[in-house]
Amino acid sequence: MNDEILEQYREAGRIAKRILTTGAGMVRPGAGVLETVEALETMVLEADAGLAFPLNCSFNEAAAHDTASEDDERVFAAGDLVKLDLGVHLDGYVADTAVSIDLGDHGELVKAARAALDAAIAIARPGVSAGTLGGAIQAAIEGHGYRPVANLTGHGLDRYVLHSSPSVPNIGHAGGALLVEGQVVAIEPFASTGSGLVSEAARAEIYGQVSARPTRLPGARRAVELVCERRGMPFSRRWLDLPKKEIALANLVRQGIFRTYPVLHDVPGSFVAQAEHTLVILEDGCLVTTA
Ligand code: MN
Ligand code: MN
Repeated sequence: MNDEILEQYREAGRIAKRILTTGAGMVRPGAGVLETVEALETMVLEADAGLAFPLNCSFNEAAAHDTASEDDERVFAAGDLVKLDLGVHLDGYVADTAVSIDLGDHGELVKAARAALDAAIAIARPGVSAGTLGGAIQAAIEGHGYRPVANLTGHGLDRYVLHSSPSVPNIGHAGGALLVEGQVVAIEPFASTGSGLVSEAARAEIYGQVSARPTRLPGARRAVELVCERRGMPFSRRWLDLPKKEIALANLVRQGIFRTYPVLHDVPGSFVAQAEHTLVILEDGCLVTTA
């Protein structure tokens, strides 16, 4: 990685950190979810940066992939455990970072996810395997008395690509890819009071284009035109300014041109905490761009 690209990653990280910190302060009982999400997304654009994906705002047993819908009437409430997950990019160079905001009595769970992230960062350097990072994450979360979410992982980042190799598990295993100098990796431990496995909910507000195949339905074609500048990065249904967009979106998903990212949740009544930073692997350790 050359210095110019490294600086793009660092600047994206600084912007993401600043806005996520602001966001954490806005999550208060009574605040509107839609207003909060839109205000934070606007801050990214006003920083002359791009959104690598819609701001994720996931509640309680939902681990990821929720965001405000355009008619969202939800408000943050006492007792909630809220995850804000923000992706900022500069020219395709991404900073991916998340924080959990506890409006109830989930302080230990939040600490567990953070401790797991710290433990992984402490050992991240060239030659360390993704499975070893997973082992450090698992040990920290289990040490706090919770379960790591086994079927969610951290991931490599490439230009305009949100999930490249290596995949960084939240549980230990032997072998796996070794970290390499110059890699950019997002590490994101999830700690749960539930089963430690997430499944897909019916709710899906986030979409992504997965095929460039042409489509003939005019509304669908217009939707593809609107999102082509995303270069495959996810977008929100809320962002699409298009009449009858439900029909166009359903059609595009049916054709395999768009996919949905359904909300991922652990069992009802459980709570999931997340912490995430983006790292650049350096010769003798790592640089955390979002800290
Ligand atoms: Mn993230
Ligand atoms: Mn991520």
